[in-house]
Parts: sequence; structure tokens; C-alpha cells
Amino acid sequence: MDKIQMVDLHNQYKHIKPAVDDAIQDVINSSAFINGPQVKSFKSDLEKYLGCKHVIPCANGTDALQIALMALKVQPGDEVILPDFTFIATAEVIALLGLKPVFVDVDPDSFLVDIEQIESALSSKTKAIIPVHLYGQCANMDEIMKIAVPRGIAVIEDNAQAIGSDILSNGTWKKSGTIGHIGCTSFFPSKNLGCYGDGGALFTNDDKLAEEMACIANHGAKVKYYHEQVGMNSRLDTIQAAILQVKLKHLDTYCEARREAAKRYDTLLQDVNQVKIPCRVSHSTHVFHQYTLKVENRDDLKTYLASKAIPSMIYYPVGMHNQKAYKTSGKFKVSDELCRTVLSLPMHTELRIEQQEYIIDTIKEFYRS
Ligand SMILES: *Cc1c(COP(=O)(O)O)cnc(C)c1O
Repeated sequence: MDKIQMVDLHNQYKHIKPAVDDAIQDVINSSAFINGPQVKSFKSDLEKYLGCKHVIPCANGTDALQIALMALKVQPGDEVILPDFTFIATAEVIALLGLKPVFVDVDPDSFLVDIEQIESALSSKTKAIIPVHLYGQCANMDEIMKIAVPRGIAVIEDNAQAIGSDILSNGTWKKSGTIGHIGCTSFFPSKNLGCYGDGGALFTNDDKLAEEMACIANHGAKVKYYHEQVGMNSRLDTIQAAILQVKLKHLDTYCEARREAAKRYDTLLQDVNQVKIPCRVSHSTHVFHQYTLKVENRDDLKTYLASKAIPSMIYYPVGMHNQKAYKTSGKFKVSDELCRTVLSLPMHTELRIEQQEYIIDTIKEFYRS
């Protein structure tokens, strides 16, 4: 049996090696390393895939979130609502811009932002809501839009973990990241659509926002050397765009492979009472960026698995309100509990049945002893 890895990018690469190698070589041959033609063609491919009017490529997922907020013309002191249980980037960009992150608790089953909590966190200063499509499954966008739109509040979907998933919105299935005013994603290598370095993108159907975001990402300039606003330098490298163009063609197959692996885990775990398998919500498909369990005796289980050469990860061990840099008072019962109990198992497109059987057998062994 091959060594089990949390994410196996090397074996994934082997299946697409000729196409990827050619794509990289083409960029090197043309030497158009910055804003080369592949950036434009990937942008257009992704627009088609998402069924979305505008994609704006940028340097990483964190920049995408920052550019989205800047495009909303936020002012210091404005408030942004986000789930307490997320990756730090979501909160970080809010704080960097002098805005106030307002953390809310998450749902105990889906671990996604709790809609009722959003309602109680609203204030006259609320400028935006950032739902996070955690682990590859989407927050309830229709409910969130129902709260936000009448109040003139913008919604930015943090879609870094869920690209390729579908959301049921007003009776039709749409691609995640295209329901809110802006969608943000990351092409970090381990993400479901990952490049071979850093990368990110913004999605929107709004022409004005698209123009604004492209301008911000380009040093605040629409015309070279004429800067209308303070911007950023946030570009997707041509080499990364070329790789992503190849990989986008496989995204649906990759998502399907993850779903199949998740189903196998579910079945194998059927009679293990000490773990709770991931719940599936009805308004979204799940693309399993992570396969995350709620488990008993988490830290000991993790150590035991490691002793049997099985990696596992804790996403996330500390909620936003407990982070030293973001300390806030308030009760976050579910988030606190998740920080103590969640464990993510190896999940990627190359996972083998025998590897999964070994992982689950080892988990069973742990709870028997
Ligand atoms: C990965 C991730 C990001 C940030 O993406 P980078 O490309 O690493 O900057 C933001 N939000 C969430 C939820 C993520 O998982």
C-alpha cells in the first residue's frame, strides 16, 4: 500500500503530466510571464464553467477577499459579519482594512454559519456578510440574501473550499460563488482547483463591481500609470493560469472522486458510534475539500493514527474569537465544541479503497482498545 497522504498532488499530476508540462513550456517559450494570454483565456474558461459574467484573477484567496471588501468602498469602523469557525484569512482582511469583524456561531450539524445568529448580529454599521462554504459545502445563500439585500448589505461568498459545488437558489442549481454580490476563491495547491503555487480569483455578475475589482487588483489603475485609487498588486501568474486551464477541465471529475471517497468513508464508518460523519445539507452539493468528523477523544485518536502512519488534521483548533489577535467576548458554544472535536481524514482525488479501509480499521481499533 502506498504511503497515505493528507493530499496527494504528485499522483494527480502524473495523470495530466503531458498537458501540464506543455502548458508550462508554452509560457516559458513565450516569456509572457505577467498577464500573458493564458490569464485571459483561463478567466474566460472559468466564467463559462461558473456561468458567471466576470472572473477577475488575482494573486491568492486572501487578496481576493481584501479586494472584494475594498470594492465595496468600506469605511473604517464598518462591520462585517462572518462565522467564528473558519480559516483566519476571512477575518484578517476585515481587520486589515480597519473594519470590525463580527463573529457569529455556526450550525451544530453542518458547521456552516448560523442564519439566526446573523440576524441578531446585524447593526446599522453592518456593511457586508461573508459566509464561508466550509469543507466544500455551501452556506444557505437564499436565506442570507433574504437578510442582506433589503438592507443594502453586500454578501461576499468565501468559496475557497467549495469551488465546483452547486447551490440551490430560487429553485435552480447554480455554481457556488455566483449567488452573492461577489465570490472569492483560492487556487492554493491543496484546494479543489489548485495551481502549483499561489493564485486566487473573484467572481461577480455586476459590471461595476467587476471593473472596480480589476482596477484595485491593478494598483488602482484602469489606464497604466494613472491611479484613481489606492490599490494592490495582485496578479495571477501566467504559468499558474496555464496550469489552471488544464486542471479546470478535470474539476468535475476531481469533485466526483472526492464525493466517491467520502461515500466510502461513510459506509466504512457506519457502525462506529464514537464518530459523527459529515452531514449533507439539501440546498448545496458537497465537494469534500475536507472529510471532517466529529469524534470522541480526538487528540488521542489523532496521535494513534499518526503512530500507524495515518495523517489527519484539525481544521480548526481555535475559533476566531479565541485567537490572540482577534479576541472578543461573547458565547460561541458550537464553534468551541468543534474546535475540541473535529478531525479531518485524508481526502484527495487519488485516495485508494485499501487506504480508506486501513484508515477506518485503525479508527475502529483505537476505539476498541
Ligand atoms: C484557503 C482559504 C483562504 C485563503 O486562500 P489563500 O489563497 O491561501 O490566500 C481563505 N478562506 C478560506 C476559507 C480558505 O480555506
